[in-house]
Amino acid sequence: MPLNKTEPDRTDVINPATGERTGTIKISREEDVKSAIDRAEDAFSDWASKIPRERGKILFLAAQEIRKKQNELSELLTAEQGKPLFEAKNEIQGCAAVLEYYSSISGTVRGDFMPKSDYGYSFTVKKPLGICGAIIPWNMPVLIMAWKTGPALVAGNCLIVKPSSKTPLTSLRIASILHSCGIPEDVLSVLPGSGIEAGSALAKSRKIAALSFTGSVDTGNIVEKLSCGTGKRLTLELGGSDPMIVCSDADIDSAVAGAVAGRFYNCGQTCTAVKRLYVMEDIAEEFQRKLKEKISQIRPGNGMMRETKMGPLIDIDARDRISDLITGTRDNYDAEILTGGKIPDSPDLSNGSFFEPTLITGAPKDSRLFTEEIFGPVLPVAVVKNMDEAIAEANRTEFGLGASVWTKSLKNSFEATEMLDAGIVWVNRHLKIPPEVPFGGEKESGFGRENGLSALERYMKEKTVIITP
Ligand code: NAD
Repeated sequence: MPLNKTEPDRTDVINPATGERTGTIKISREEDVKSAIDRAEDAFSDWASKIPRERGKILFLAAQEIRKKQNELSELLTAEQGKPLFEAKNEIQGCAAVLEYYSSISGTVRGDFMPKSDYGYSFTVKKPLGICGAIIPWNMPVLIMAWKTGPALVAGNCLIVKPSSKTPLTSLRIASILHSCGIPEDVLSVLPGSGIEAGSALAKSRKIAALSFTGSVDTGNIVEKLSCGTGKRLTLELGGSDPMIVCSDADIDSAVAGAVAGRFYNCGQTCTAVKRLYVMEDIAEEFQRKLKEKISQIRPGNGMMRETKMGPLIDIDARDRISDLITGTRDNYDAEILTGGKIPDSPDLSNGSFFEPTLITGAPKDSRLFTEEIFGPVLPVAVVKNMDEAIAEANRTEFGLGASVWTKSLKNSFEATEMLDAGIVWVNRHLKIPPEVPFGGEKESGFGRENGLSALERYMKEKTVIITP
């Protein structure tokens, strides 16, 4: 992490569109995490003893405040993450919607009652786990923080959030809004810091009862090892390489629009982005022509400009990884770049980490473009003969996050939803997930669920009571 040279223990947050400083933050160290845990231990019993509806009411008030401040919050998010303002606003509204959802179900937190038996009366009660941790990536920092904060707090836990030090500023603002609406400061702490120090401290601590980690597969594996033996409940929301299958009977225009939105939203840096596309050979030519036409209309630009539809990558390293991958694929294989494929040469963009939206065909189906998670604005397309081949290719990777099939046929829809190895399968859609729908991966993409009732359950324990009269 680049330290700010003039102020030790602080680091600059850089705007990826301009290379300029958006803000400076204090880096939290292992001792800061330990002290937040101690303070949360003191705050826990008061918070846990509130009735869940009272906690839900605070989340609802905070969601209203977030909506009122959405313009200011979106601008801050764009300035630290780079995404266009309209996407930043979507994310801020998404965060409010998640908090509203958990507020709306707060009154339903309850156990179960069993029929009277020879033992007497038996029932279960749901209790919070205690102090929980959340580790957040930089790509959707505000939405992902809401996915963890909403259920953890409504269930009555304290939560320590470690955002990525690349994008901590909007998360800190959201936390201050939650505090101003009634969440005690020691119940929710946001501690930006390095993964190796602050993140590991959460993973290693025996006092953290549950940890929800979102990030790459490699870091997720480290977090899993660090957590081992600490008795904590772990959720791992990791990387993906989502396939999109376009069948011969698909509505081609809507599949083209879905592929463009699904791949280039957030400059291709979304866990469930469309990362590989398989199209049936009888429609491949028309489909690729229309896709190329749409993609070549997207101009990368500074997200602060109202007309910008795609911003920069998160930093220069990320841009250079994409650039090297494209150059290598073009040079080593018989691959054709249909549009994009390079760093834009516009002088206005020279200080940012921009890359042109890229469509590429002809790369082998077992090359890196199809087997790794490519986190940037690049869409590789492969032609397939039939559904069996499409599903076999889709399931070829170690990932299992999302997948989609585009078809009008019920048979294709059911076959794909049954056979695709993925935590979520869309038919005629990709990417969007409302707050009530559980979401998570399988295979290397992780385990556990966020969103919906499934996430709430992960933040509660069940106690059984038997009363013999
Ligand atoms: P990353 O793994 O580099 O970092 C994620 C977080 O982990 C950061 O806060 C980082 O500081 C922290 N971290 C780093 N080292 C750590 C350690 N040793 N111990 C504990 N924490 C540590 O990921 P990233 O580059 O920020 O995010 C991109 C990745 O996240 C992609 O792979 C993407 O697919 C994935 N992602 C997954 C989902 C999902 O829901 N499945 C959602 C968004 C992003």
